[in-house]
Amino acid sequence: MTLYKLMNRGLVRSLHGVISAGKESRVYEAETSKGITIAVKIYLVSSAEFRRKREGYIVLDPRFRRAPSNFRSFVYLWAKREYSNLAKAFESRVACPQPLFVEKNILGMNFIGRDRMRFPTLVEVELSITEYSHIYKEVLQNVRRLYREAGLVHGDLSVYNIFVTDKIHPILMDFSQAVVLDHPMASTLLERDVRNLVTDFNKRGVKTGSLQATLEWIKGESR
Ligand code: ATP
Ligand code: MN
Repeated sequence: MTLYKLMNRGLVRSLHGVISAGKESRVYEAETSKGITIAVKIYLVSSAEFRRKREGYIVLDPRFRRAPSNFRSFVYLWAKREYSNLAKAFESRVACPQPLFVEKNILGMNFIGRDRMRFPTLVEVELSITEYSHIYKEVLQNVRRLYREAGLVHGDLSVYNIFVTDKIHPILMDFSQAVVLDHPMASTLLERDVRNLVTDFNKRGVKTGSLQATLEWIKGESR
C-alpha cells in the first residue's frame, strides 16, 4: 500500500482526523516522523464521474497529451498534476500550500492552520468590508503572480478554495484543475475565476473593478 511506503520513508507517521471527505478525495491532518503537522490529500480511485469530468484537462494539457486508459493511472496522473501545479505556484511565491510529496494517489502538503486546526475558508468567515477589500486585493495579486510568474490559471477559484489566516491574509488552495497558459481552456478558465471573485467580493461589499479591467491588470504589464 502506498501509505505504508510513505510511512517507511518517514513522510507520514500517522493520519489523524479527516479534515474533509469529498466524493473524489479525502484530506487528513497528519504528522511526519519529525512530528510536523501536514495535510494529506488522498484521491479516491473509485469515482466513476472522476474521469469524465477531468479528461479534457489532461488530454488538452500540453504537458501530458494522452490520458491513460487505466482509471488508476488516470487518478495518479491527476495527483501528480496537482503536485506540479502547487510546486510551480509555490516557487513563484504564490500564497498556497507547499507541496511535500506525491506518491500514486496521495499528495502531501503544508498544513494551512495553527495548532492542528485548519484555517477557515472565505465562506466560513464573516469579516468587515475593509478586511474583505484588503483580502480581495491580495487574492488578485496572487492570481496575477500565478499567471505571470508561474504561468498557470487556477481554474476553480472561489471563496471555497481560499483560506483566511489568523492575520487575515488569503491562501489559495486546490490546484488540481490549474492549467498552463497554452492550455486551450486557459483564457476561459481565467475569465471564469475572475468573474467568480468579482461576484463573490462584490456581494461582500467590496468595490471591485470591472471584469475586463481586472483581467487586463492580471495579464498586462501595468502595475
Ligand atoms: P472539495 O470538492 O470539497 O473542494 P477537493 O477534492 O477539491 O474537495 P480540496 O479543496 O483541495 O479538495 O480540499 C478539501 C478541503 O480540505 C479544503 O476545503 C480544506 O478544508 C482542507 N484542506 C485542503 N488542503 C489543506 C491544507 N493544505 N491544510 C489544511 N486543510 C486543507
Ligand atoms: Mn476544493
